[in-house]
Amino acid sequence: MCGIFAYTGKNGKDAGGVLLDGLLSLEYRGYDSAGIYTPESGSIKTPGAVAELRKKMPASFTGKSGIAHLRWATHGEPTEKNAHPHASGDGEIWVVHNGIIENFKELKAKLVVQGHTFLSDSDTEVLPHLVEEHLKKTKDFEKAALMALNEVRGTYGIALQYKGEPDKIIAARMGSPIVLGLGDGEHFIASDPSPILPHTKKVVFLEDGEVAIITPDGHSITKLDATKVNRIATEIDWNAEEAQKGGYEHFMLKEIMEGPDVIENTLRGRLIAEKGMVKLGGLESVATELAQIERIIIVACGSAHIAGLIGEYMLEEFAGIPVEVEHASEFRYRSPVLNQRTALIAISQSGETLDTLEAVREGKRRGALTLGIVNAVGSTIARETDAGVYNHAGPEVSVASTKALISELAALVLLTIFLGRQRLPGQGGMSEKTAKEIALALKELPNKVQHILDTKQKIEKIAKKYAGVRDFIFIGRKYNYPVAFEGALKLKEISYIHAEGYGAGEMKHGPIAMIDEHFPTFAIVPQDSVYEKNVSNIHEIKARKGPVIALATEGDTEIGKLVNDVLFVPSTLEMLAPILNIVPLQLFAYYFAKEKGLNVDRPRNLAKSVTVE
Ligand code: GLU
Repeated sequence: MCGIFAYTGKNGKDAGGVLLDGLLSLEYRGYDSAGIYTPESGSIKTPGAVAELRKKMPASFTGKSGIAHLRWATHGEPTEKNAHPHASGDGEIWVVHNGIIENFKELKAKLVVQGHTFLSDSDTEVLPHLVEEHLKKTKDFEKAALMALNEVRGTYGIALQYKGEPDKIIAARMGSPIVLGLGDGEHFIASDPSPILPHTKKVVFLEDGEVAIITPDGHSITKLDATKVNRIATEIDWNAEEAQKGGYEHFMLKEIMEGPDVIENTLRGRLIAEKGMVKLGGLESVATELAQIERIIIVACGSAHIAGLIGEYMLEEFAGIPVEVEHASEFRYRSPVLNQRTALIAISQSGETLDTLEAVREGKRRGALTLGIVNAVGSTIARETDAGVYNHAGPEVSVASTKALISELAALVLLTIFLGRQRLPGQGGMSEKTAKEIALALKELPNKVQHILDTKQKIEKIAKKYAGVRDFIFIGRKYNYPVAFEGALKLKEISYIHAEGYGAGEMKHGPIAMIDEHFPTFAIVPQDSVYEKNVSNIHEIKARKGPVIALATEGDTEIGKLVNDVLFVPSTLEMLAPILNIVPLQLFAYYFAKEKGLNVDRPRNLAKSVTVE
């Protein structure tokens, strides 16, 4: 999920220095530990920053080639032993990896039987051991690497080095980006072009399922089945900052565009669609307690709180468990009544949100079972909760949360299936048939999100049209009631205009007094069980001359006649609709703020990880 950089050259450059500088230009991605390896000097690893790594490197650290890594932990805490590069048992094969090896447990068990000893908790460590096994038999590094890669399942961007052939580095890509840099007497591998650009502008982007070999003099690419691939190099004229943003103008847009991958990553290896089951390793230790809980309290802040509100609808409808959602910052001040049959679920991207952490501590003091839905592995909330689910959304750089919220919702759907299936359908639980339906619909979401992203120009046009207004109201009902909050929150955060989210039915109880021809409404109005009621509320707004943008379901030919502008999203199950509807709202806020010339990624007065109360 984080950063890879590898170098091999014959121009006498010091690989240690080249790699360290490369890691510095990848630092923007947010990471928890760093490491470096050269065949001449071995490996150095550290939790924390690249500056720490530099301090640990002796002046004598040298090499002509090597691999380096910034880790964003998914399996195993951010400690020195879990940092990359990871080595085979004989210390001959070294690997840096971004992503997740899904079948690492099975592979590890097999390797242990074959006599391998593992030193870390990272899923990555199986890779060098696998290559070592194959190398023993084939005596051919390239073949051994291909054989190992054909055995792993999951996502990876990888760089592999063999001490016996120090100037050769093998790279592979499956779901996690890899780019090759082609220089004069030197070649590079990286997870994005930023560390390559100071050396060469000539790059080749690998596709999923491709493996590349670099030496100082050249490169070659094959597929996983060893068939040759010919790809023409491209010259990129991005500057370092553009490269970090993957060519997008802002991190926020890049992160919204990652939506389809984020959903895949949250679901990966967890959804057993054909059985209508969900496997959540992080909850196994408390599965018995979870089967007995009678109440759930979700504590969170900001967009994570909105995820919780949507989760409330899901959990009550499909798991039959009463749910309350609290702003974490308020939870402690109302003497909450909890017991061991209460599960307190904390949702936090960073896992360091102090308000949420304090709510977890309060929950523990009062005897609740505490769970986390957290993106950052090994973070304080992840450590202090009894059990949890990691989102696997990858690092989020932009202050306004986008992809993390999408992943929190996907995790909440998984949790709903998990808890629903633990209970009998007659007692509020979920039948196998319903679970299968949800699982199938979940699998279609990445494509549907992609479809929405493909309409971004239309969203941009509408955002530009409205960018001069000072106020906005967002309305929705049922599952899309909290979505209205998120539409307003995103706009507030990055555009600094007055925006409110309301239940569509609440408008007539107060807010509709504000409506006139200058006060637009964004209505989330999918064709669901509350469609007609929403339409009535839109009529009420139109009768007061309020301009309305509708977010509607594709194929709705009526809504356009009523409102000023329409955006369409594909249809899905009612409970999953928020995951789709949030995407155009994020893009709307993004283009709105951009049109106003604001600093989208670093909005004023806000911080990414809020570690104060
Ligand atoms: N899954 C690997 C680990 O936790 C790689 C993490 C990353 O992508 O940085 O060690």
